[in-house]
Amino acid sequence: MNDRPVEDYESEHRRLLEQVIAETRGTADLTGCAKLSEPVLRALAAVPRHRFVPPAQLAWAYADSPLPIGCGQTISQPFIVALMTELLALDARSVVLEVGTGSGYQTAMLASLARRVYSVERVPALAEAAERRLRELGIANVEIRIADGYWGWEEKAPFDAIIVTAAAAEVPPALVRQLKPGGRLAIPVGPQHRSQDLRVICKDESGVSHSRSVLPVVFVPLVRDYED
Ligand code: SAH
Repeated sequence: MNDRPVEDYESEHRRLLEQVIAETRGTADLTGCAKLSEPVLRALAAVPRHRFVPPAQLAWAYADSPLPIGCGQTISQPFIVALMTELLALDARSVVLEVGTGSGYQTAMLASLARRVYSVERVPALAEAAERRLRELGIANVEIRIADGYWGWEEKAPFDAIIVTAAAAEVPPALVRQLKPGGRLAIPVGPQHRSQDLRVICKDESGVSHSRSVLPVVFVPLVRDYED
């Protein structure tokens, strides 16, 4: 199944793009985003999701749903990946921090839009598999670190944008600190395994943060290895 030729996925990939566009339009009242920008649509069209799912999930690689990737984790739903990417408003100069590399699919989307992506993953097997996939796809502007992303990545801060793809009980203060003035943080906040609140936090030029609720979502939990 892994040997299925790429062109087999083309029509499914195109259909997924249509679905994501429709879902973006359908949720505009909540999200304030009716249309994905051209660069985000191009990134969605360019990243081959079938390269990021385990062999047993290949039949659903282009379904607009999360899928298991092992270690109790999931690759996120493409619509949510696209929406969160859009909310970050990246450009070719952006330096981005991602917390929760997982499969590396979201990482690849970010890497195609930004200058540099720093991604933190706490499960070594997932970090290593994602690193290998990105290398095989020739994506070279990503650095992955195995650590608890609750603390961000101090040495590489500050960031133009930060994305957290696991649900936090509250917004980690270190992440807000590591955001540049004018920067944006997208993060699901709420209880484990129930509906959470996707939020965007914008830090204005004077360093004051403003939070906005975007959409109810369900993410796997941001796991804390130890409390501070
Ligand atoms: N964007 C990823 C989502 C993976 S699921 C994708 O689409 O594939 C969330 C990921 O966050 C999991 O891989 C999980 O191991 C990781 N994670 C959970 N808590 C974390 C923490 N404290 N620090 C870093 N990564 C964490």
